[in-house]
Amino acid sequence: MAKTLKKSEFVPKKTSDVKQAQKFLSLFGYLNPQDTEYEGVDMPPNPESPPEGALKSARVKSGEIDSGTREALMHFQKFYGLDQTGKLDKATVEMMSTKRCGMPDIGEYVAHGNKWNKNDLTYGFVNYTNDSGLTQAQIHNAIAQAFALWAAETRLSFRRVNISSNPDIRIRFVSGDHGDGAPFDGASGVLAHAFYPPPNSGDLAGDAHFDEAENWTINIPTGSGKIDLVTVAAHEFGHALGLRHSSVNGSLMFPSYGGPMRELHSDDKNGITSIYGGYSIAHAMWTHGTGIQIERPNNLDNIVRAGFYTYLYGKANTTNWFHFAIPTPVIEDNKRLKICCAILRFRTFSDKAIVRHVHIYDGYTKIASHDNINLTGDQWFRKYGVAHKPYIYWGLGISIGVEFKTGTLHQRRMDFVSAGCDLIR
Ligand SMILES: [Zn+2]
Ligand SMILES: [Zn+2]
Repeated sequence: MAKTLKKSEFVPKKTSDVKQAQKFLSLFGYLNPQDTEYEGVDMPPNPESPPEGALKSARVKSGEIDSGTREALMHFQKFYGLDQTGKLDKATVEMMSTKRCGMPDIGEYVAHGNKWNKNDLTYGFVNYTNDSGLTQAQIHNAIAQAFALWAAETRLSFRRVNISSNPDIRIRFVSGDHGDGAPFDGASGVLAHAFYPPPNSGDLAGDAHFDEAENWTINIPTGSGKIDLVTVAAHEFGHALGLRHSSVNGSLMFPSYGGPMRELHSDDKNGITSIYGGYSIAHAMWTHGTGIQIERPNNLDNIVRAGFYTYLYGKANTTNWFHFAIPTPVIEDNKRLKICCAILRFRTFSDKAIVRHVHIYDGYTKIASHDNINLTGDQWFRKYGVAHKPYIYWGLGISIGVEFKTGTLHQRRMDFVSAGCDLIR
């Protein structure tokens, strides 16, 4: 077998590699594009060009690690928590070649500065992807799940409308040059980009574009080379709401894609509430874990109603659904209430008991699906938003899908402690 150079061993020394790095630094906001000469490299303008906060360096020489390029490299290395060598070292080249968002990185400001001047936003699809056999209904669910993360922390709501109704946020799956001056780059590399809220970018404000050259999926594990649509959509909607990239590794707004992440980090929550504030609760109610209903009792080895919570042991290699019926005040002071989010308190005793899905119902109508969340361990306050925050009519229900794998009885234990909902006006 021929010896091939592993990517991790690759350290660029050639002029063309430096040019590529300069192009990267310019695309993502570390070099001002106007300062850079790019011989033989087509420089597409950024969605916003030049990005605010981009280095106002002196002109840099194409293909040379001069002082401007070195300074830009050090800013890049600082953002990603790398050693600030100012060189194109191995770690830097590796970080530059991760899958990522197409928006520039700006370290110092979490909020972009623009925000929507209303709380109830609409979104629509210009077109769909049919990667992995995804149906329109599956894409609708995935996108609603992504919006629901932001809805659960703020006053914002997100309602899907027909594209002909001119929604605030337009979603497209496009490849290569698609007419906004920021062409996509084929498979891998840049996965998606979005536009900050009005008034910038004219009609494009708030829109989110996904690179159709990627292979999108909603399944977890994603399968080799496939990208989780929910994770990337949630990240892009962060931009559409006015968030910039965060340098906090592990946050959803970190620029590179490190695999599925279907929840907000505290840094994301702080960012979004710094722009829009939290929501005010008209009514909150909770019920004890003893009230849980079991869809398939025969799939359990044991169940104990202990005081005000329930613990149970799933049979190995089974799935089950557990249901909370929440006593719901649908009307208060003659005003119908809306749901903001459901909240769960539970724990599993190992990764042999996995909470895979949380669905929220009003009567028998499903109003939110949080799929493939794959939670284990102690989960003492987990919020699940409802993107469109509908009026409620017939009583709220929370259904929890759990998978039990092969393991000891103790490893297959799960406790339901309580469940609640936050209602708003
Ligand atoms: Zn981004
Ligand atoms: Zn675009």
